[in-house]
Amino acid sequence: MTLTVDNLQVAYGGAVRALRGVSLTVPDGGIVAVLGSNGAGKSTLLRAVSGTLRRLGGRIESGTIRFDGDDLTRRDPASIVRRGIAHVPEGRRIFGRLTVDENLRAGGLGNRDRAAKAAARDRIHDLFPVLAERRAQRGALLSGGEQQMLAIGRALMAAPRLLLLDEPSLGLAPRIIGQIGEIVTEINRQGTAVLLIEQNATMALRVASEAHVLDVGKVSLSGAADDLADNDDVRRLYLGHS
Ligand code: ATP
Repeated sequence: MTLTVDNLQVAYGGAVRALRGVSLTVPDGGIVAVLGSNGAGKSTLLRAVSGTLRRLGGRIESGTIRFDGDDLTRRDPASIVRRGIAHVPEGRRIFGRLTVDENLRAGGLGNRDRAAKAAARDRIHDLFPVLAERRAQRGALLSGGEQQMLAIGRALMAAPRLLLLDEPSLGLAPRIIGQIGEIVTEINRQGTAVLLIEQNATMALRVASEAHVLDVGKVSLSGAADDLADNDDVRRLYLGHS
């Protein structure tokens, strides 16, 4: 599987052009990070890939999104999930009144293969033992880090080949961010490619192999994650030191 985004241009309403010709590739089994400040267009990129852009008032004006040679550019979210792409949106958005187990079940609704769902749940409980311990607890009672784990677990119920992660570290303590980074690495090691969007670049550049910097709707810098971590501009803007 390879995700190829080519020259993508996206607008909201008539006025706001959020992406201005973005191209990038997520190779089979890779972790690719996209960094950028507030409003750079990072969430818009993931929404375009998962097909959720339209319900938020956005539209793809030009460019293409291909997955395994299949054109996803104008497909609806359900058919994109069926093709193996799951999206963990910014802000977690778990169902607070539902239990942990019910949240996970909601993530598997589009998947009719019971054996695959049982295997996905076992995988999630191995990755996140806390979700097994708290299976009967309401989502709202989990800590921020646990809610992020539940949001990732819910997406994994679709047994995706590509996981889209929107700022998983947002609002979490450094120790928890480190744990999330280790889990992203493990998910990838098990065969799921990852497109990781982050404003806080430290964890993202540690786990990714390649990274891109998005700057007001355009890719301004691309390279190996290690090289970007050494880049002066990246260090000053996204790593919090000069
Ligand atoms: P953040 O981390 O703040 O979410 P981002 O890099 O993810 O930033 P986007 O959310 O993709 O950026 O926003 C890119 C641009 O599109 C911004 O100018 C934003 O105001 C605009 N935008 C985002 N969502 C919408 C929407 N639903 N309707 C109108 N404009 C939007």
